[in-house]
Amino acid sequence: MLFTVVHNGRWRTPWARYLMEMLHTAGCLGWTEQGVMEGTTAGTIVLPACWFPPEEQNALSDFVAGGGTLIASRPPLTMAQVFGLKPTGRILREQYLRLSAHALVPDELQGLTLQCPSAMDLYDPAGGEVLAWWCDPLEGLERYPAIVAHAHGRGWAVAFTFDLADCLVRLHQGLISQASDQREGDPCGMGWAKPNDLFVSLLDARLRLVPQADVHQRLFVHLLETAAAQRALPLLRLWHLPGGVPALATFTGDSDGMKREHLEEVLSIIERQGGRYTLYLMEEHRDLMTPSDADALRRAGHGLGHHTWVGFSPTIADMREGARRQFDGFKERYGFQPLSHRGHCCIWVGWVEQGRILSENGVRLDSNHYPYVHSQYGFLSGSGQGFRFVDEGGDPLDLWEQPTLMSDDCMLQDKTFLPPFTLDQAIERSREMIDALTDRWHGVYHPCFHPVYMRTDWQYVYTAPWIEAVAAYCRERGVPMWSAEAWAAFVWGRRAVRLVHQEQQGGTLRCTLHARQAVPQLALLLPDQFRGASVDGVPTPPQKRILEGRERLVVAWDMPADVPVSLVLSKEEKP
Ligand SMILES: [Zn+2]
Repeated sequence: MLFTVVHNGRWRTPWARYLMEMLHTAGCLGWTEQGVMEGTTAGTIVLPACWFPPEEQNALSDFVAGGGTLIASRPPLTMAQVFGLKPTGRILREQYLRLSAHALVPDELQGLTLQCPSAMDLYDPAGGEVLAWWCDPLEGLERYPAIVAHAHGRGWAVAFTFDLADCLVRLHQGLISQASDQREGDPCGMGWAKPNDLFVSLLDARLRLVPQADVHQRLFVHLLETAAAQRALPLLRLWHLPGGVPALATFTGDSDGMKREHLEEVLSIIERQGGRYTLYLMEEHRDLMTPSDADALRRAGHGLGHHTWVGFSPTIADMREGARRQFDGFKERYGFQPLSHRGHCCIWVGWVEQGRILSENGVRLDSNHYPYVHSQYGFLSGSGQGFRFVDEGGDPLDLWEQPTLMSDDCMLQDKTFLPPFTLDQAIERSREMIDALTDRWHGVYHPCFHPVYMRTDWQYVYTAPWIEAVAAYCRERGVPMWSAEAWAAFVWGRRAVRLVHQEQQGGTLRCTLHARQAVPQLALLLPDQFRGASVDGVPTPPQKRILEGRERLVVAWDMPADVPVSLVLSKEEKP
């Protein structure tokens, strides 16, 4: 066992346990949960934010003093000394932190400013090395540590002085107080309910091009990998994208006002560049797509999902009833369950209730997080990788959000109150985003291209040259363009992969993985020093990739359902 998540179930906030979901999202394998007093044979403990009584705090301090590594999310104030901190007794909320130029912070993240919409304990430094400071975003003042690392006894300890899991959920899912069923539920005064409303006054528009939640998560996983590098067993991580690619793309669009020939034109542009497209079809447009058309579309590898429409500002009950009727109609006409979804006008009821309604209807991937008023394009919910929803009580939903990052309507029209772009500027912004996702953020480039923009007889811009340029650029940069369905299958298939056995002898690491459903192009990051790999006895040369700022070796294979797969990793190139 490389690391253990140690907790006592007395969570400081309902979302504190989302830290474990984060470890799954990051693809960390082979860890377990256990209680504080059960003792652990692992060299590293990950500590979510719980209320720990004194005897448990003492046990954790002893673990570090005895040579263990402790990585803690908002640890108890009374453990401050372990982390090289001195409590001030004060708490701040909704601040910014700036990542330091410290060896434990990856080079390409140093100097980044990130929002932290959670409560944080204010400490004075007392020997801890500061990996991030709380800062004033305008003045740049840095006085209180936000993340510290400290040698204690024979071990070392890292503290995030805020609850990282709580911070991620807030960055991902926005403000409950601005949900459609709350008093402040229409912050833009538009009379309709969108996910964008949840982020007005939360997301600092200056940071809309930084996937802040993904960066927070990446720093935590980097620290875990660094801790593992000092232990006998390395951390095994499944890369979050298929085949170990640095970035993926999913091109989607809604059927609003389209004709059949508009869809054909979009499909042919994307197919020419080797990509696939996913259409969200409104109930009123089902005449445009017969069941055999839908079969042909899916056989060609494209996606088809539902485009819900129940009005601009439905109640939760209206949405539940309307969505159920529309999903049932879709299944009756086309004979399959739509896995992916975007709502017309991205209407979103409640804080997480819309997600619950979608998951009740079998949707596994949603794209409603769509930058709108005040943001226009970028990472509305702080993520390009995507994330799993969690409810108010901390229970995860079987629904993944793959945020839409840019759209024809918001980039080319002035509906977001920000100046629209020309077509050339939109193409340039798209290329910049694809570069950033490939070279730095490792996320999913997800534009919304409505087929109706293939019209040439109206006042709006004809967007075929944009789609063509962007698809060609994805191809040039080696960014595969998958349907939302294929991507959803990968996300959930990978989520269910388990490490069932791991042992290391000399320079050879043997492990066995098991998957509940097939996962095409599942990819494992080779730990440092490992050079060769075989999958079920077949030598499988790892590929070199620049990921997270350095060269990594990745071995990828098609993971079968319900059949254990054995991997042998070796420090020699030929296992
Ligand atoms: Zn629509």
